[in-house]
Amino acid sequence: MSDEKRSEPFPPQRFEGEIIVDEQGSEHRFPVHLTVSVDNSGQLKLDTDPIYVPINMILVLKGLLGRPGKDIPLFKLECESKDGKRLTSDSAHLTSCYDSFQVGDAKAKITVTIRTFTARLNMSTADSSTHTVLVFRLPMFKCFPSFKCKTSVGVVQIAGAAKTVKQNELSGIIHISALENNNPNDWQKRADQLLKRLRLVLSFARGASLFTPIVECYHQGNVEVTFYSGGRKGNSDMMPPIPHLALHEFIPSVVPVVEKMDNEKWGALGTAINWWLVPTSYREVRLLTAITALECAVYNFANLKKCECHPSYKHPPLKCRIEHLLNKLVINRDVIEHDKIEAAIKVRNRIVHNSYTPENNADDKELWESVLTVREVMVRIVLSLLEFKGNYSSYVGGMHLREFPSCKLV
Ligand SMILES: [Zn+2]
Repeated sequence: MSDEKRSEPFPPQRFEGEIIVDEQGSEHRFPVHLTVSVDNSGQLKLDTDPIYVPINMILVLKGLLGRPGKDIPLFKLECESKDGKRLTSDSAHLTSCYDSFQVGDAKAKITVTIRTFTARLNMSTADSSTHTVLVFRLPMFKCFPSFKCKTSVGVVQIAGAAKTVKQNELSGIIHISALENNNPNDWQKRADQLLKRLRLVLSFARGASLFTPIVECYHQGNVEVTFYSGGRKGNSDMMPPIPHLALHEFIPSVVPVVEKMDNEKWGALGTAINWWLVPTSYREVRLLTAITALECAVYNFANLKKCECHPSYKHPPLKCRIEHLLNKLVINRDVIEHDKIEAAIKVRNRIVHNSYTPENNADDKELWESVLTVREVMVRIVLSLLEFKGNYSSYVGGMHLREFPSCKLV
């Protein structure tokens, strides 16, 4: 299958089917006709024709609208196109619902807007190849030229745009194709797990989360496309990402480690990285999330029970826990000396406990230096856990390159 073929947009198509509502144990089915399309950012669009329902059913549909403070009511959507494509969702929901009818009418005309959190499209491909392939599509992803590497789950390929791309434009893929000796029974699960891990380390490298609105699985002439809604829309007001790594050096170096890491260790590292990647418009929040990420790392990778410097403490303070983990991982301390980490924690504590907000340039400088210190600590911990060897971008005192694990200036 060529890359051109996979990048073909999904053309708008008519579908017919049913909305299936489970209302306190009793099931209601409403016929629905709709046009299904996918926009440039990979979001599934469902344009529904008006639905005609018996008057006494209006409230069932209206009950699907969300209410403040309540969980969003979900329903099922099952539909098919004339050429046999099947679209299903267990997490469909309504964002609007308007009725119109006259007294005496048997049926009401209901105009609804349907969205799905996750939807699956199943179809057969013209491609007769029996190759099993899993593809994650990535918006706003730059990575050129593409590169390939072999893993136990298959051949991984990562590709992205060479130039700047439009907001939310789908520009990249992570792609894995099964090897002949792979067991087909659990292949998709293993491939999915590996691609999710790679997506997270790619997010870490570029300093901003990667979202996958579309996942495709090709297997024996069939394709299942899963659409995920959400992703970050219009994040231009967010603070810009701080990229730390050149993907071409980073990815081949960490793929074998990412692949073999056990689930428990991966889960802890993943949670720490996700905290570290929380998008924000505020420096204060960037400091809080970076320290939360660091806390997550120290509790999971070096759970210190007692420290000699604070014998009367029931639990060692965070600064001692961080110190313990840095020692355990034998991390170089240039520009992340103990007093700098301690100062950053103090700034965090002032923000959280003493309603502190920076008021002048000196405050701003202190806050930003704290952010950079904590991020540098976290970057070195993550690189160490990923057993990375190579150059990375450091921002303490201005952007520059350092070599890992020596942390010497390049
Ligand atoms: Zn201590």
